[in-house]
Amino acid sequence: FNIREQHISDIEKEFEKALRPLAFEDFSGQEKIIENLKVFVMAARMRGESLDHVLLHGPPGLGKTTLSNIVANELGVGFKITSGPVLDKPGDLAGILTSLEPNDVLFIDEIHRLSPVVEEYLYSAMEDYRIDIMIDKGPSARSIQLDLNPFTLIGATTRSGLLTSPLRARFGINCHLEYYDHQILSRIIRRSASIMQVPCNTEAADEIAMRSRGTPRIANALLRRVRDFAQVKGTGEIDLEIARFSLEALNIDRYGLDEIDNKILTTIIDKFKGGPVGLTTIATALGEDPGTLEEVYEPYLIKEGFIKRTPRGREVTDLAYVHLNRNRFSDQGS
Ligand code: ADP
Repeated sequence: FNIREQHISDIEKEFEKALRPLAFEDFSGQEKIIENLKVFVMAARMRGESLDHVLLHGPPGLGKTTLSNIVANELGVGFKITSGPVLDKPGDLAGILTSLEPNDVLFIDEIHRLSPVVEEYLYSAMEDYRIDIMIDKGPSARSIQLDLNPFTLIGATTRSGLLTSPLRARFGINCHLEYYDHQILSRIIRRSASIMQVPCNTEAADEIAMRSRGTPRIANALLRRVRDFAQVKGTGEIDLEIARFSLEALNIDRYGLDEIDNKILTTIIDKFKGGPVGLTTIATALGEDPGTLEEVYEPYLIKEGFIKRTPRGREVTDLAYVHLNRNRFSDQGS
């Protein structure tokens, strides 16, 4: 059972779509971001203008796509969706840009993965709503300027560190999504359960929330699995007992940590005596890219208090030793 986002199937995607909030009022958490976006959306509406370009960054599954869709709904405009790796050539981008209606939202997921030529092309589109396209080939080739309708670009990235500064500078609104607290995840789970028409009490929702790695996508995926157990092994209703039973059966970590999280912690303990050890050194030992470690994997471990950042590098905490059933002193001696 793998809950990392890279492995979501088409069925899982359909399921996500059904549970996706469509308006600000259905979106829980990220209060500061929502509060600000509401103001900017209302102002744009009052002026009849497009909203400024928005950059959303943060770990996968925290609601970047969902929020972009909501912004388009609240602006009352169309929503088009694409992603950095899909936009191979400038022509691909030109095709989408010229199809936008006035003030539409264009969502580009994984915007850090745009090719440099496509990115360069995007600059004038974002700034002046204008693009240069080449027509004809060979000696008669020439470029013509094309005016676009004003639009809002919403870029999403899990790796904002990889964004070039000229691209970053073109976003007027910049939001960082944070991991969700258990209480809010529990609320999201109860909302999803009610959409799925499966009874789920608060205690059970809290239990699932605690094991969801601060991530709504994981919370919804776990809820779906627990619902299966409730249907087959229980009464169809989700209570604490069936929630615990299912989560044990699925081998879900008590703190919601996944394989990679645990591997990071055991590596620091076993190879570096618990730290402090530099980020690059840990990344090399894991065969991971240091940037991914820093932006994607480590923030949750720091937030939940398994790892500490110190001036001399990363250090695991007592909680990590307890969680992994290790003895701090015997491990240090070995
Ligand atoms: P991202 O684009 O950041 O990877 P998504 O927007 O695809 O994340 O969200 C993943 C799933 O989690 C969606 O199905 C959505 O329903 C759910 N979700 C995310 N954030 C929230 C939220 N704040 N409230 C309710 N559901 C959420």
